[in-house]
Amino acid sequence: MSVSERDCVAVIVAAGRGTRVSQGDEEAPAKQYLPLGGRPMLARSAGAFACHPGVAAVRVVIRGEDRDLYDQATDGLTLLEPVIGGATRQDSARLGLESLEGADFGRVLIHDAARPLVGSALISRVLAALDDAKAAVPVLAVTDSLKEAREGRITGTADRTGLYRAQTPQGFDFKTVLEAHRRALADGALGLTDDAAVCAHAGISVAVVEGDEDNLKITTADDLARAERLLAGSAETRIGQGFDIHAFGDRPGPVRLCGLDVAHARGLAGHSDADVGLHALTDALLGAIAAGDIGRHFPDSDPRWKAADSALFVAEAVRRVHALGGTIVHVDVTLICEAPRIAPHADAMSARIAEILGITPDRASVKASTAEGLGAIGRGEGIAAQAVATVRIARTR
Ligand code: MG
Repeated sequence: MSVSERDCVAVIVAAGRGTRVSQGDEEAPAKQYLPLGGRPMLARSAGAFACHPGVAAVRVVIRGEDRDLYDQATDGLTLLEPVIGGATRQDSARLGLESLEGADFGRVLIHDAARPLVGSALISRVLAALDDAKAAVPVLAVTDSLKEAREGRITGTADRTGLYRAQTPQGFDFKTVLEAHRRALADGALGLTDDAAVCAHAGISVAVVEGDEDNLKITTADDLARAERLLAGSAETRIGQGFDIHAFGDRPGPVRLCGLDVAHARGLAGHSDADVGLHALTDALLGAIAAGDIGRHFPDSDPRWKAADSALFVAEAVRRVHALGGTIVHVDVTLICEAPRIAPHADAMSARIAEILGITPDRASVKASTAEGLGAIGRGEGIAAQAVATVRIARTR
C-alpha cells in the first residue's frame, strides 16, 4: 500500500450515553464501554481501524465525563488524543472532523462505536469506493416486508423497493464532509442521523457499497447477546512458533533467560539483553497474528534496544495480539543448552512469563533440553530456544 493510500483518518463517534442495553441500570456506563467477548466495545470498534492497513490514524469522540473509561478501554491501542463531542451524534461527528482540519488527511471514515464487529473487508470496501466517489455508505437491502400499524392492527404495506438500511463506517472526502457538516449547522438542519444524510443535505451524491449483516449496531441487551454469539462463533485458534539462538560472548554472567538472571560464567552475546527465550517467545506471538518478527519491530541497528529488557518486546507482541481482539491461550518455551541447568529455574521462568503475558502460570510452560553434545550447542558455545504460542482470535472478515 502506497503512502498516498494511507491518507485516511478514522473518526469513531463514542459520545452517546446509550444505556438501554443495561436495562434501566442508571449507574451503568454508556454501552460503548461495556465488555463484548471480554473487551470493551470501544476497544473493538477503534481497534478494527487502528489495525487496518488503509487507515493512518484514529480519533475517538467521547463525552468529557467518560475520559477515565476511555483511557481504560483503549489501553494498548495507538490512537490520537480523543476529543469531546456534542449533544447529538451530528454535533459529535462534526466536532471530530473540525479537530482534524489542517491535519492533511484526504479521506475520513466515520464509524459508530456501537458497531464493534466491523470487519476489515467492510472497511476496505468503503475505502475502495472513495476512489470514484466523494461519499460512500455501506447498505443492506430490506428483506422483511414493511408494515404500517395502528392500535395493534396492520393498516398497510409499504413498498420496500429501493429501500436500504445504512451502516457505518461511512467514507468521505475529508473537505467535502467537513463543509457539508458546517453547512447543515448554518442551515439549522440539526436532526440528521448519519453523515450520509449530512452530505445529501449539501447536495453531494453518495455511493453505496455492500454492508455486512454481522456489523450490527448494539442498542439493546438482545443485540449485545447476539454480538457475543457471533464473536464466539467466529473465534479461531492460531498457533505461532519462534526460534532463536545466541552464542556466549564477552560479557560476564549471569545469563538472562526467560526474564530471569541465571548464574553462569558468561552471558550471551547479541541483541538487547540477549534473552534467547523471550526472543523466541516474541516471534511465536507475532507469528500467531502474522505480524512479522522481532527484528522487524526492534531492529538491532537501533541503539534504543541495546541492552534493553526483552520483556519489552514480548509486551509489544502482547499489545498487538490484544489490539486484534485476540486472547493468549497458552505458550510453551524450550531452552536448549548444555549449561547452565535450566530445570531448577523453570517454574520461576514460567511465573515471570505468565506475569509479562497477563496469563496464569499454568498456561506458560518452560522446558529444557540439551543437544546431547552435538553441534555448536552441544559444545556449549551458546543457547537456543524454541517457542510456541496459541492465540484465540475472532476471524477478521
Ligand atoms: Mg535473539
